[in-house]
This record gives sequence, structure tokens and C-alpha cells, in this order.
Amino acid sequence: MRYPKLRELKEAVIALIKGPYTEAYPRKPIQSPKRFRGKPEYSDEGCIGCTACALVCPARAIEFRDTVENGKATRKMILHLDECHYCGQCSALCTTREDTPPGIRHTAEFDLAGFDRASMVSATEEKELVLCEICGDIITTKAHLAWIAKKLGSLAFSNPTLFMSSLKGMGFAENVLQAAKDYVLRPDRIKILCSKCRRKATIER
Ligand code: SF4
Ligand code: SF4
Repeated sequence: MRYPKLRELKEAVIALIKGPYTEAYPRKPIQSPKRFRGKPEYSDEGCIGCTACALVCPARAIEFRDTVENGKATRKMILHLDECHYCGQCSALCTTREDTPPGIRHTAEFDLAGFDRASMVSATEEKELVLCEICGDIITTKAHLAWIAKKLGSLAFSNPTLFMSSLKGMGFAENVLQAAKDYVLRPDRIKILCSKCRRKATIER
């Protein structure tokens, strides 16, 4: 028979006097550490639907669902909590991580067990997509273009897709298109275009 070592005996006596080392969870709630990576949560206000988080997710736990119906195109970001590793890549590399609020962040929530996998998701609202005016391909979300234009400031005016989508949002696009037809040498370039059609409009035509 092996006898307990003195150190183990000492620990046992201390535990008998002071109580167990383990937490009484779930009887008593636990305070998560400050930088704890719990349930990742999207912010509808902060997320611009750029899909960078889905591209960097090592578990492929994030999908983006693009829907084009009756001329209305939208994107929804969906994070599957049952596939997530809680590694933090999505929040660390989120395009709007320095904004308030950021697009995605980790909450302190960790008790995520459930019976229904379909309900274990964190998702954004549907975000409006911008389509190429020539081929109809998806360019990105309206919020993403607006975010880039804001970052670039006046430099955004060098990119017709950026400034036309901004003007469309403000309701001035028609006036600019009319002026372009009258005064601009290549009015076919003053459009919201995907990269392929932009290349054709700029170089090939
Ligand atoms: S803004 Fe952040 S959270 Fe939203 S899609 Fe882009 S990377 Fe993901
Ligand atoms: S925490 Fe990691 S695994 Fe989970 S969604 Fe973000 S990047 Fe993917």
C-alpha cells in the first residue's frame, strides 16, 4: 500500500479547515477575469459586413449569407457558437476593432450549453449590399463603402464607386450623373462598378 506524501497530507488538512479549493459554480456565480474570451457578439451598429472576421476564423465558424431578391441585396453575418474555438481572431482582426462599438467583441458569457444547435448563433441584422451597375456582381455592403470613404476623407473622391455610393446615400447622385454626361470626358466611368468592370471601363474601352 502506498502512503500519501506529507505535502498531500498537509493540503488535505488545510482543505478540511479552510474549505475546498474549487468554486461552488453553478450554485455561486463566477466573476470572469478581465480579458476573458467568452461568447463573441456582433454589434449591429459597429459591424460593417466586410467579412474579414469570416476569412480569418480558423474554425470556419462564421458565415456570411448574401441574398439577392427582387432587386434588393442584403448580407447577414452569422457566427455559429457551437463551432467556435473562442480563439479571439475575429475580434482581434475585425476591420472596425478600433471603433466604438467594434464590429465584434468577446463578452464574459461562457455558460452556453444548449439542446438546439440552430439557436446557438450570434448574428447581425441584414445589411444592404451594393451591386455593380454593369454586371450586377456584389461589391460589398453600403456600410463598408461608407466606412472606407470616411477613413479616406477627401481622397475618396478619386474613386468613383466610393463617391457615387456616398452621393447616392445623400440623394445627389442623379445631379452628378447629369453633370457628368454634359461636362465629363468619360461619363461611363462615373458609376458604381466592381473591380472587373472598373478595369474594362478604365483601360479596355
Ligand atoms: S466589421 Fe468586423 S465583425 Fe463586421 S464583418 Fe467586418 S470584421 Fe466581421
Ligand atoms: S473566436 Fe475564433 S473560432 Fe470563434 S468565431 Fe472568432 S475567430 Fe472563429
